Amino acid sequence: MTALVGTSRTSPSSVLEADHHEVLDAFSTFIRRELLPLDEELPPDTDQPPSDLRAYVRGRSAQLGFYAGDYPEELGGSDMPFSAVALLHRAAGRSGCSLAPYALAGADGPSPMLSSGTPEQIKRYLEPLVRGTKVRCLALTEPDAGSDAFRLATVARWDGPRNQWVLSGRKTFVSNADRADLVIVVAAVEDEGGGPAGPTAFVTPLPVPGLHVGQRYEGMSGEPLFEMVLDDCRLPADAVVGGKAGVGTALSSGIDSLSRGRLLVAAQCDGIAEFALETAVAYAKQRRAFGERIGAYQHVQEHLVASRVEVESAKLLTAACARLVDDGVDLPENAALAKLTSSQTAVRVVDRALQVHGATGWIRGHPLEYLYRYVRMMTIIEGTSEIQKVIVSSAMGLG
Ligand SMILES: Cc1cc2nc3c(=O)[nH]c(=O)nc-3n(C[C@H](O)[C@H](O)[C@H](O)COP(=O)(O)OP(=O)(O)OC[C@H]3O[C@@H](n4cnc5c(N)ncnc54)[C@H](O)[C@@H]3O)c2cc1C
Repeated sequence: MTALVGTSRTSPSSVLEADHHEVLDAFSTFIRRELLPLDEELPPDTDQPPSDLRAYVRGRSAQLGFYAGDYPEELGGSDMPFSAVALLHRAAGRSGCSLAPYALAGADGPSPMLSSGTPEQIKRYLEPLVRGTKVRCLALTEPDAGSDAFRLATVARWDGPRNQWVLSGRKTFVSNADRADLVIVVAAVEDEGGGPAGPTAFVTPLPVPGLHVGQRYEGMSGEPLFEMVLDDCRLPADAVVGGKAGVGTALSSGIDSLSRGRLLVAAQCDGIAEFALETAVAYAKQRRAFGERIGAYQHVQEHLVASRVEVESAKLLTAACARLVDDGVDLPENAALAKLTSSQTAVRVVDRALQVHGATGWIRGHPLEYLYRYVRMMTIIEGTSEIQKVIVSSAMGLG
């Protein structure tokens, strides 16, 4: 399987790339020269590269200035425009190199929630995440609170005499809980009058007494998720993200930061869809059936042309929304439009690309077999497709 390293400079969506060719070329060179050789050494049916290899890729990418590139230089980032970072995520998805996504900050990297932390929290927690020397996890979802993250049953009680918060509850579907150096836990706190002050983010290094990783859930793509149990977990007063002002604000500051995460998921989906489409086009040009190349059959062309239309449209929308972020227009509905479009497009395009490959694409070890399982999470993580529609309909004044 040929890796697709580099970008097409003639497709309609490339008009929004012109400012970032230099960094895109440098990232593509990094994938080609350093990551692909490592990728080729992995057994063909490896779903998840080993942790130490992921850590190496993260550290090397941070050293080169790609990982967490949009964070400030003083924290270890490169002050890169957000639209450039989005293009790197697309390039990682498009490369077909299983290690490339780990070269860019994702669910275990710097959390925008920590950007609203106190100066001490930024130094202690955010900076090592930006530099790629530590990884984190986020414990938000609960058995009875997924999309509706305001209904948290995990509570944080203030123990005044001991100057500590005491957290109790159960979290579920936490990524990276088995290897994270720190966790951000979102819990409901009671205000001084005994009423609810709303969801509040706490940050603590791991391990910490009173918090343990419970059940392990095996995901479709091989990435496990974990239960986290908090049983009278005592945290110091300064564990609240943003200090006293952060009490009750986890989801309002989180909602702002979610937009960027959603755009990066959209960008990676665009790249995955491009990879799947280009792989299917190449196959349709060489595979023969009934004495003809299968690409000559209109039913096959329909799969490929419909995919091309959707991929170009999705890429343009994501790149335009990312450009708007750089221009100071960071609207949740823009990110929702892009995430909804790109994640659904990627699921459809990977499905069609596999269909064009027949049994060859279904066999374990074929990149499309893995992508078919991997891409399915994209319409669930960072807010489901239905929640993106709720955001868009609400922005349209429909309630
Ligand atoms: C790969 C993966 C990684 C994850 N990593 C983490 C993590 O690190 N930390 C963490 O805390 N969580 C994580 N999650 C959990 C994820 O955030 C939740 O799965 C997600 O928020 C949806 O919640 P839910 O699964 O409980 O579904 P529910 O909220 O129960 O939704 C079920 C269905 O109802 C629909 N629905 C719900 N509300 C509405 C509405 N108002 N209107 C229309 N439809 C609606 C949903 O769209 C969905 O189709 C992860 C999940 C996955 C798949």
